[in-house]
Amino acid sequence: MNLKPVNVRIVLVETTHSGNIGAVARAMRNMCLTELVLVNPRKFPHPDAVARASGALAELDNAKVVNSLEEAIAGCQYVFGTTARERGLEWAPATPQETAETIVSAGEDAHCAIVFGRERSGLTNEEVEMCTHAVQIPTNPDFSSLNLGMAVQVVSYELMKARGGKVSQAKPEVEPAPAEAFEAMVKHMEEAMTHSGFYDPEDPRMTQRRMRQIFRQANLDAAQVNMLRGMWNSVLQLPKGPHSKS
Ligand code: SAH
Repeated sequence: MNLKPVNVRIVLVETTHSGNIGAVARAMRNMCLTELVLVNPRKFPHPDAVARASGALAELDNAKVVNSLEEAIAGCQYVFGTTARERGLEWAPATPQETAETIVSAGEDAHCAIVFGRERSGLTNEEVEMCTHAVQIPTNPDFSSLNLGMAVQVVSYELMKARGGKVSQAKPEVEPAPAEAFEAMVKHMEEAMTHSGFYDPEDPRMTQRRMRQIFRQANLDAAQVNMLRGMWNSVLQLPKGPHSKS
């Protein structure tokens, strides 16, 4: 996958539950982020982190543990502080999507940090003020606080999309069936429909054209045309329908 390069560290401030650190490591691996910085985690390393990381162990092993937010964001030109609450900031917080676009346009030479707060109390006002930008995930205004791991997931997913991450288009190209195979299939279908009584050849109305249109839209390949012919064959082997005029 060709992702646009970025230089981003995920910073977690004084995380209480080690399981959340594992969930963050997992979200990071899912979304192709590698750099994790922990400011005074309560318990780390810890088996709960390993359990919740579901195999994203390199992110945990390489996590850097530091004593202060200053240390965690040293060298960063862009520091995004995430917050669930309106804090009366003079600047409106950005959405995760806008944040991701800013990071991608800044490019890989720009050192960026995205900072996440404590489970209970989030980031302090002083910590938010140390950030160059504030980020808020849009939520129900009466219930705005996401679990820490989920908040990291949402923000890093937006970053993944902004970097050009897409599900691979592994669908094989369909080689449309040749005209004569398509026509033979339609004729075969008419026989079967007449046989079953669904279709009256004396009074075709629009049915024939509509059926043809349905199969045109399906852009059938040769194998699919053959499969339909097999189906019409099986209908022709049944006893005639009660309304059949054939
Ligand atoms: N009660 C705290 C929320 C703690 S949730 C508060 O009011 O700030 C733990 C962390 O997850 C937050 O510090 C923040 O980094 C992140 N988070 C949770 N919900 C968020 C949201 N809606 N927008 C942005 N970040 C959020």
